[in-house]
Amino acid sequence: MTEKEKTQSDPKDLMEKLVSLCKRRGFVFPGSEIYGGLANSWDYGPLGVELKNNIKKLWWKKFVQERGDMVGLDAALVMNPKVWEASGHVATFNDPLVEDKKTHERFRLDHLLEAAGENVSGLGFEAMAAKAKEINLKSPKGNELTDAKQFNMMLETYLGPVKDEENKVYFRPETAQAIFVDFQNSLETSRQRIPFGIAQIGKAFRNEITPGNFIFRTREFEQMEIEYFVKPTEWEKYFEEWLENMKSWMRDIGISEDKLHFVEIAEADRAHYSKRTIDVEFDYPFGQKELYGLAYRGDFDLKSHQDKSRQDLEYRDPETNEKYLPHVIEPSFGVDRTILAVLISAYTEIEGGRSTTTEAIKEAEVVLRLDKKIAPIKIAILPLSKKEELSVPAKQLADKLRKRWMIMYDESQSIGKRYRRQDEIGTPYCITIDFDSLEDKKVTVRDRDTMLQERIAIDDLENYFKEKLDY
Ligand code: ATP
Repeated sequence: MTEKEKTQSDPKDLMEKLVSLCKRRGFVFPGSEIYGGLANSWDYGPLGVELKNNIKKLWWKKFVQERGDMVGLDAALVMNPKVWEASGHVATFNDPLVEDKKTHERFRLDHLLEAAGENVSGLGFEAMAAKAKEINLKSPKGNELTDAKQFNMMLETYLGPVKDEENKVYFRPETAQAIFVDFQNSLETSRQRIPFGIAQIGKAFRNEITPGNFIFRTREFEQMEIEYFVKPTEWEKYFEEWLENMKSWMRDIGISEDKLHFVEIAEADRAHYSKRTIDVEFDYPFGQKELYGLAYRGDFDLKSHQDKSRQDLEYRDPETNEKYLPHVIEPSFGVDRTILAVLISAYTEIEGGRSTTTEAIKEAEVVLRLDKKIAPIKIAILPLSKKEELSVPAKQLADKLRKRWMIMYDESQSIGKRYRRQDEIGTPYCITIDFDSLEDKKVTVRDRDTMLQERIAIDDLENYFKEKLDY
């Protein structure tokens, strides 16, 4: 980088710029766009799905494959409704809802109270409703509000041809409960011993009253969750261990550490069964909000499912023969919020550009400094000319490297513009093939971050990239 260049890692209007880049380059599209869209639904496009898959694969590798004490699960999305009675979701998975009497817009009462400067921390539904009356709370447009209602966030549907109460089921509002329901089956078949954990990645659905902020809060989203089963006396040790594991994960994927906050949730705000909860919060452009959660849930879930199902869910220690319900540490990761946090962390604008070619490119240049492990495209192959002399060997090279890594081939426009296109989507390496390559059988490899260019023999490329890209 030359002196005249100034890097802005947190530019103004960052969300607007990110949403636009995501659409323009194929990371995230508005859902159902050709039909005018569906509010707050988003589709991951060609680059977005690569980024998402890389994040999920890396998470699975770190937390399942590389550990002897973890196993995986991929449970059905729609479960027996009794699951959600036992878990407490039917009775208590509620948001306090109020409606503007004039416009009929709906709001979350806790959000409105907070906006009015009230501290809602630790207030239950009744207390919040009373507070709203006491201060004569109005809607953001200054209109009267309806009385608060408890609004259950579970999305309902019906299985089978008859739409009656008997056939009513719920789309799961979290992936975690299936882990408890499948606890005994997983334990018996994997022959694990305490402490051990079960991990699951999958979609979850919540009928959020106020979705928004791009992919931050949607009604359909993806979670990566772990239940780690421990001896009741050892929970504190494993809580600390999982906190460290979460920090290490965030470093692995390049989430800016200076934007992270670890918020201890006070007793009054925690679920009654939890002795400790930490919210991992991130500085999004729209404020400091939750990214992940870490909770100690005691034996609440296994106990509820044991009582409701009347099945024995206890663990028998093979050495002492002691029987008990294991306690649980739950690290919970949202996939979509991970994507938003890595994009925000990686987005860099360089005023005046940093082009290595002679052509003057004046506008700010965007470099997405994504970690190599999660970048959607690992290598771009750019022949210096469209002539067959270069394009044929360049395409052959692309086909060869494609067997191991995601490759993009691009021969249109100037090399400067092509570098910029790759920088903008976070491609860590570009290979250019020039007329000298035909003679010396070497190509130029350019590094996205250092912009250093190295001449590498074509025959050595695979080993070169194995070292740089495989993990
Ligand atoms: P919030 O307070 O933001 O509503 P939460 O505390 O209800 O979140 P959890 O129930 O702990 O969230 O869910 C675990 C993780 O799932 C969250 O940390 C987040 O990453 C993700 N998540 C939850 N709700 C949504 C949503 N509506 N859209 C996208 N991700 C979500």
